[in-house]
Amino acid sequence: MNSRCKDQCRHITKYPIRNGVRGSYKLGYKRCRECEIFIMIDSIRCPCCNGILKARPRNNTSRRNLREYHEKLREIV
Ligand SMILES: [Zn+2]
Ligand SMILES: [Zn+2]
Repeated sequence: MNSRCKDQCRHITKYPIRNGVRGSYKLGYKRCRECEIFIMIDSIRCPCCNGILKARPRNNTSRRNLREYHEKLREIV
């Protein structure tokens, strides 16, 4: 599926939008790779390009990162 930014994300006022600010995932924003924006929305699709939004549940992510970190340590030793 081809999802392209239609430049509508710049005019969305219905949902809070952020531009690549660190920690946005934690605040509940989802990222659209195509539009390069963070948007706070219930949908899993971007209202602009209709692409799948990326959300990171913080608990899962931090837990997995920790495990990967430990596995890497083991490889080195
Ligand atoms: Zn867009
Ligand atoms: Zn988009």
